Amino acid sequence: MNESKNIDNIRENINNVDSEILKLLAERRKLSEDVVTSKVESDQPIRDTKRETELLSKIIGAGKEFGLDSHYVSKIFYDIIDDSIRLQQNHFQDSLFDNDSDVIRIAIQGIEGSYSSMAAKKFFAHFNKEIIFISKDLFEEVAGEVEAGRADFAMLPIENTTSGGINEVYDLLLHTTLSIVGEEKFQVKHCLVGSENTTLGKLEVIFAHYQAAAQCNKFLSTVPDANIQYFADTALSAKKIKEEGIAEYGAIASEEAAKLFNLKILQKEIANQPNNFTRFLVCSRKSHEIDTRIPAKTSLVMATAHIAGSLLNALTVFSKYEVNMQKLESRPIVGNPWEEMFYLDFEGNIKDEKIKMLLDDLGIHTRFLKVLGCYPAKDIAKAKIDFLSNGKVSDTQVKLNEEIIEEAKPKKIKKPKSYKLASRDYKPEDTIVKVNDVSIGGDNFIVIGGPCSVESHNQIFECAQHAKESGTQILRGGCFKPRTSPYSFQGMGFEGLEELKAAGKKYDLPIITEVLAPEQVSETALHADILQIGARNMQNFSLLKEVGKVHRPVMLKRGMMSSIDELLNAAEYILAHGNRQVILCERGIRTFETATRNTLDLGVIPFLREMTHLPIIVDPSHAIGVRDKIAPLAKAAKIVGAHGVMIEFHPDPPTALSDPEQALTFNQYSDLVKDLYEL
Ligand code: PEP
Ligand code: MN
Repeated sequence: MNESKNIDNIRENINNVDSEILKLLAERRKLSEDVVTSKVESDQPIRDTKRETELLSKIIGAGKEFGLDSHYVSKIFYDIIDDSIRLQQNHFQDSLFDNDSDVIRIAIQGIEGSYSSMAAKKFFAHFNKEIIFISKDLFEEVAGEVEAGRADFAMLPIENTTSGGINEVYDLLLHTTLSIVGEEKFQVKHCLVGSENTTLGKLEVIFAHYQAAAQCNKFLSTVPDANIQYFADTALSAKKIKEEGIAEYGAIASEEAAKLFNLKILQKEIANQPNNFTRFLVCSRKSHEIDTRIPAKTSLVMATAHIAGSLLNALTVFSKYEVNMQKLESRPIVGNPWEEMFYLDFEGNIKDEKIKMLLDDLGIHTRFLKVLGCYPAKDIAKAKIDFLSNGKVSDTQVKLNEEIIEEAKPKKIKKPKSYKLASRDYKPEDTIVKVNDVSIGGDNFIVIGGPCSVESHNQIFECAQHAKESGTQILRGGCFKPRTSPYSFQGMGFEGLEELKAAGKKYDLPIITEVLAPEQVSETALHADILQIGARNMQNFSLLKEVGKVHRPVMLKRGMMSSIDELLNAAEYILAHGNRQVILCERGIRTFETATRNTLDLGVIPFLREMTHLPIIVDPSHAIGVRDKIAPLAKAAKIVGAHGVMIEFHPDPPTALSDPEQALTFNQYSDLVKDLYEL
């Protein structure tokens, strides 16, 4: 009796001590908040590893005096310090997520109770806002909700520690306009759940998301009598069981989903690996600028140039700048068999000078480069006792960084230009655009030939055969025609593109065709090897941005009233949007001269060769507009340094539906190509 009274007393005392501990923890947190405010004002970094080291060693010493061993004390205080650092980091990043509203609308794949919804709740937990989930079936629709402004954020699973990368989301990131603004890691604890009246032995069907089934396949093989039926998401399969209440049905779902739908948990922790985590990306319409005082991560997608060693050269850039690469994942490029897009995550902030230089350097080795987002890193380095570094970056490290930045700066500082990626200062060596086995740029000279427009099956097949027999490298043919008069032939559209593609395939010739509007770009890019932007569209910026997003080379024609500075700035639009495969084309400009259709400006070719690394093609057909005068201009183009010419020809020039006066006959064309190669 006395003894139990004694225990009660002790317990009472323990309770009192616990509540004191809690009060003190809350007080300590409050002090951490005060530290943030003072750090914001004084512009100090969040991590002060010197102070962390001193603090931890002092506490461990004091603990010993109280008879507490150092392991126990350090374990507890590591957590306390980590909490304080996280609190301070949140302070810097939370303002980025503020939307002047009491609710946050988050688009997820699946329904509430899914892992995506739980990861979102975890990520936005300290915001004190109501979360409204917008449920969608497909990842593409999830991104679409944010793009259309119906949701503030998309929560997308990107990889799992057991089953690996989530391919649909990787492919989506390439095309979406969203930016990654955050990441969350969520421990996935799969359970086998069923209705109240079931047992493991009764199950005949187990509903599971295919990723969840892959992560639990070892357990599932121990229930051979049950069939696995794939389901769009884990929570949805739990909901189905609830609704149907059939004892023969089970599902793989989270404990939370089981609770949400009042289901029985038949077995916990059924995943192959107990440490099963999924990483989620938080995506929004606008990118965020991350304070350089908090650790940031950057994600990008790139395709390396078609040159031996390009991937190695690209990756070497990371070691040159001593930037830690955290992830490299590859995915095939749709429409380009055996070519890969690489997805990379690395430590660093795109506001940082060193990272800006790294990206510039990396761009030189790529055909396509798009930054997907820069965001606060989820993992915070653990507080540790580190007397060696004494909390500072070593002097040699600082020097090294300065040297790297100094060395990477362009040597000749000329007059600043409005374009950068297109300039020789940025990339001294020639860009070589490879299309199948044709190389455009460098020391190569190529001939692009074909009719002004694709007019019929027979016409384009005849032209393709003649092109091939004459030694042409690339077949041209307009399917969407930019005509001066709305009553002129407007082209055969996608039907014409089908014919052009088939003709190119039959005669093994890559094809080039013009796109007139942004909405034609992605579809045309699936079929054409090179996209052409016509002279009339050189400054159609929404079209330029759109072709900047695809991974087909683009031939950009100089506008009739444009300077070469404007041409290079237009090319910059395409390059800056990711597509690094731009070919320039001089096709004649408007002058007071009326004898010729336009005035071929061959004088700019040597200048362009100096100013830019991009390949340059000359189109004498549209410049002069008269069939008999084309050949000498084409030869002159080669002599002044063009990387190739584009020539129009037709089986029966006078009957051509567009540009009949300038189309060469078959004989004129084959003679010209022969002369050009002999030149
Ligand atoms: C063409 O090449 O088909 C064309 C229309 O050319 P441009 O845009 O130079 O007039
Ligand atoms: Mn034409």
